[in-house]
Amino acid sequence: MGLQDVSSFITGHWIAPNAGARVIENAVTGEVFAQAGNTDLDSDAMLAYARTIGGPALRALTFHDRARMVKALALHLNQNKQALYDISFATGATQSDHMIDVDGGIGTMFVFASKGRRELPDAHIYMDGEVEQLSKDGSFLGHHMCTPLQGVAIHINAFNFPVWGMLEKLAPTLLAGVPAIVKPATATSYVTELAVRLMIDSGILPDGALQLVSGALGDTLDHLTCQDVVSFTGSADTAFKLRSAPHILRNSIRFVAEQDSLNASILGPDAAPGTPEFDLFVKEVHREMTTKAGQKCTAIRRIFAPDTHVDAVIEAISARLAKTVIGDPKAENTRMGALVSNAQKRDVLAKAAIIGGEAERVFGDPDAFDVHGADGAAGAFLPPMLFRCADPDGAKRVHDTEAFGPVSTVMGYRDLGHAIGLVNRGGGSLVASVITHDPEVARDVALGAGAFHGRLYFNNRDSMAGSTGHGSPLPHLVHGGPGRAGGGEEMGGVRGVMHYMQRTAIQGSPDILTAIGKTWIPGAAETPAPAHPFTRSFHDLHVGETLNTDPREITMDDVAHFAEFTGDTFYAHMDEAAAARNPFFPGRVAHGYLLLSFAAGLFVEPNEGPVLANTGLDNLRFMKPVVPGDSIKVRLTVKTKTPRNDEYGEVRWHVTLTNQDDDLVAEYDLLTMVAHAKS
Ligand code: NAP
Repeated sequence: MGLQDVSSFITGHWIAPNAGARVIENAVTGEVFAQAGNTDLDSDAMLAYARTIGGPALRALTFHDRARMVKALALHLNQNKQALYDISFATGATQSDHMIDVDGGIGTMFVFASKGRRELPDAHIYMDGEVEQLSKDGSFLGHHMCTPLQGVAIHINAFNFPVWGMLEKLAPTLLAGVPAIVKPATATSYVTELAVRLMIDSGILPDGALQLVSGALGDTLDHLTCQDVVSFTGSADTAFKLRSAPHILRNSIRFVAEQDSLNASILGPDAAPGTPEFDLFVKEVHREMTTKAGQKCTAIRRIFAPDTHVDAVIEAISARLAKTVIGDPKAENTRMGALVSNAQKRDVLAKAAIIGGEAERVFGDPDAFDVHGADGAAGAFLPPMLFRCADPDGAKRVHDTEAFGPVSTVMGYRDLGHAIGLVNRGGGSLVASVITHDPEVARDVALGAGAFHGRLYFNNRDSMAGSTGHGSPLPHLVHGGPGRAGGGEEMGGVRGVMHYMQRTAIQGSPDILTAIGKTWIPGAAETPAPAHPFTRSFHDLHVGETLNTDPREITMDDVAHFAEFTGDTFYAHMDEAAAARNPFFPGRVAHGYLLLSFAAGLFVEPNEGPVLANTGLDNLRFMKPVVPGDSIKVRLTVKTKTPRNDEYGEVRWHVTLTNQDDDLVAEYDLLTMVAHAKS
């Protein structure tokens, strides 16, 4: 039977491999079954297609349009995920491994889609941070804006997560409005190819938004510009080679690197055998060693336990490992499948031998282990291997050698300071975990080790039921780490989108900044509302539309009545002498909440209309006390509008309360949901 072709998708066409293709092995049988790569790919045409067709089409959409698109892709993949599971067994992965890859990837898209709708504007420009006052009179301001890069993102992915690895980069890239060229690792490229086919065939993406290079990337990286980004996941060696290419360095081309890492887990000093934390620790270590046959960038490579508990830890982990069924990944009782290829198996054995130079193997013999339902000699099977390093201070290679398979080393520590020092010897990692029930231990590790790790994971009896696992990068949180881990950062919610956008400082008048950001800034033009704004639909309201109310005087009776009615008899409202002794007040003052209530009474339109609900106040500040006899008036201005669904959208109003001297007494943002059409 001929080899299965893993094609590329370039300039709108599927292109089969040619004579220069590389062959791909079935991890379980060791048989070569597929080929990927075409040495004649036209990288200039591919880049131009992304930049001139895909980029403009994506940039024409708002963040919300793009978020809806990402959600539609996720739904489509979700409906077709069985096909992805089916072909993933050839990678050596089990069904639960597929769930991490396929469902994890789809779930990541859903989170980005939802964050895009909730945390980004329905606009083309994202305003970052607060407005800065650059002139005394407020006529010249500063702000930061983010706009999509006008190039293409090159996503180079590792073999271990052919679906998640692509989608965790693709979702924020598309949300940013940037087209992507995905280059999966050849070993598992057939899974990525199917996922790309599903997305392309769905018709959801505009032309040029997504291209795929199966096999080698050719000279593509030599043709990038400052508008392009390389987002790389893989080994430290490949990252170094690619990011140090003169063209990349000379042109300051963004290079985000997620690479290998010597992640650690600490058994807290408090977590002695017999505690729930001890059992939890053993469970987490076992899971990290065996999931994906240890081929996880976040897997626990170094295990630290108090000196007195090292024997117990080894015994407990070994007991669990001994029960781990290795074999045919399709079999239901298989806990650990094969590594991705025999080449990977050889690499892991070579790295385990290096670790073996400084540590003794206490569990797992690669020459004697049972493989169920598959040919252990032909497939890329290995047993989990646990090492014990007796001299972690003198050792070097256990702290810098990543055996990308089911290999971990146990080391003892004297005290927490010693453990922190050893954990940091990984030279920067994606994640370190601490299993402890002692908050002080957690705090010491946070301070002592935070700077060396992209993520710190604390778990104990209180959180274990809801915890997400040491090894799971989450779309809400940053994934990446300093030093050895690549110095990059991905995901982290909206932060991940910003890797594909340019942040630009902008300076100008309030009107200029309002027009750019589509967010009204104090000092910009206010247009009088043609009718009461609460009678106007979401569609009709426009940014800058303003209502100025009549004034209302505040009396001593109002203050006394409000105090009695609410129970807020704080002395500043009740006792003239006591209030006057307070440095903030001249004497009895009106309650801030009284002012807010009167403000609502001044600006509200009582009849049923398009305003459906008040959903909150943001940024509330009371600037100046109001004393009985003062009067207040309100200015209500449409600050931003954010569509929520087919029925209504959120209107954020900027509200100021001023007194009879036009001094600002209070300021806040009022959030309301407003119907699209008058009800
Ligand atoms: P790798 O050998 O470094 O390959 C990574 C990617 O780089 C593959 O797509 C590979 O393509 C590509 N590549 C290699 N040489 C290239 C070149 N000259 N030009 C362009 N692309 C090139 O890593 P891997 O074996 O696939 O993955 C395992 C490693 O990835 C482990 O070290 C693991 O820790 C790390 N990893 C890190 C993360 C993270 O998020 N930090 C996640 C997963 C894995 P080919 O396959 O076609 O060579």
